[in-house]
Amino acid sequence: MAECEVCGKKATKRAEIEGVVMNVCDECVKFGKEIVARNVIVKTSQRQKPLSVPEISLDLPKIVREYREKRQMSQAQLAAAILEKASVIKKIEEGWIPPTDVVKKLEKLIGTKLLEE
Ligand SMILES: [Zn+2]
Repeated sequence: MAECEVCGKKATKRAEIEGVVMNVCDECVKFGKEIVARNVIVKTSQRQKPLSVPEISLDLPKIVREYREKRQMSQAQLAAAILEKASVIKKIEEGWIPPTDVVKKLEKLIGTKLLEE
């Protein structure tokens, strides 16, 4: 076990003192901010919510269908407007989650926010 970097006794904790992480004993921990297994928490939250993947609106199938029906467009026409195949629009309306780039094209066309950061 490491020694307390402040007084030299047996270190039991880690604390940040004036911006430096040090091994400290029970008494010297009060000179700084105790570090409590923060790494574990960060790892868990990263796994639950990856930063690089924005969430796609759950209303996507409904929004796409309503937009199309309002303009009396076929699935093929809407697909053509975003340079995708008709089957892509069909699958989206059935609840399939398309790749982010497809959602971005729909967002632009429809003018509604479909991605949540
Ligand atoms: Zn100490």
